[in-house]
Amino acid sequence: MSRDMVVAIEDELVVWLGTRRAWVERLAATGSEDDWPTVEAHDGYLLPGLVDVHCHGAAGHDFSEADVRSAEVVAAHHRRHGTTSLVASLVTAPVPDLLRALAACADLVDAGEVFGIHLEGPFLSVARCGAHNPALLRMPDEALFDQLLEAGRGHVRSLTYAPELPGASRLAARAVRAGLVASVGHTDGDFATTAEAIRATGMASSVTHLFNAMPPVHHRAPGPAAAALAAAARGETVVELVADGVHLGDETVGAVFDMVGANQVALVTDAMAATGQPDGRYRLGPLEVRVEAGVARLDGRGEQAPIAGGTTRLLDVVRRCVRHAGVDLHDAVTAASATPARLLGLEEVGVIATGRRADLVITDRDLFAIEVLRGGVAVTPA
Ligand SMILES: [Zn+2]
Repeated sequence: MSRDMVVAIEDELVVWLGTRRAWVERLAATGSEDDWPTVEAHDGYLLPGLVDVHCHGAAGHDFSEADVRSAEVVAAHHRRHGTTSLVASLVTAPVPDLLRALAACADLVDAGEVFGIHLEGPFLSVARCGAHNPALLRMPDEALFDQLLEAGRGHVRSLTYAPELPGASRLAARAVRAGLVASVGHTDGDFATTAEAIRATGMASSVTHLFNAMPPVHHRAPGPAAAALAAAARGETVVELVADGVHLGDETVGAVFDMVGANQVALVTDAMAATGQPDGRYRLGPLEVRVEAGVARLDGRGEQAPIAGGTTRLLDVVRRCVRHAGVDLHDAVTAASATPARLLGLEEVGVIATGRRADLVITDRDLFAIEVLRGGVAVTPA
């Protein structure tokens, strides 16, 4: 990421990158008009395409609708704002609905619109259900899990689960064997249970929206968040942060970056249907949500109602981190690109480098997207 970087593209890959001066020298030396098209930041920044590993919706739609056309609208919205790799997250729903949504999302992965599917449930803690319908939550059930994986046709890439539930460790081990990230979240477990769950799943572990939908840290009962931070600080797990100024205090976000570093933080949006839309009533999977001043909460319970997902794009989260949480731009971008790409085993994206896919975001000085390229092809007009 630089203000003076030129990137040359051939087919869908980055084939050269360097400073503007080096590019000019190269052209002079080769005496040629290379026909590689180039992009550069001009007055803003050139960033790698962003990678969001926790995202439910946007533009009035939600991946849970089990409709390929609506899901395409969601993916296209986030892509226009710089998220070139997206995981479709599914909230807990009745099993037949979940199976249909998985099939639709698998079609979307086959079409190259999103790169995988995240099952947020149904094996979650009732006490920490957040915006998941507690009546639909299930105890870990390997047969059901297999059925869900099958409906996703090999495209399910991560599972959020509560490690304190009976049978959770076997379920997590099965998820890791199937190539998924086992993500601790929506948990009421204690420090030891969380630490053991992360240890057992190793580098295939992550923590779903750290601090949200889990007990707060208490000095005599440190709980899952402290276990997650300790493991992340040792480089043993990655913590998701919904750093949108609503889910977390900005100081909390800055503190986590200071404690564990950008290589262990995945910035996420947890975005729902109201993203890019006005305030009003929306759905998050099977639940009614009311959005006021951009804050989504379950309907009918006023100010105390649980937050029901985010309403920002990942580039908005990066901007928030830089402007309000004191996070260095390079670190914020790393946590929104290289770290989530590594977590999900996406080798072709996440950094700007020769041989990698030309997923690029050109922003203005204020970090708003001007142009977005995916595989070298502009998805927004220059
Ligand atoms: Zn979510």
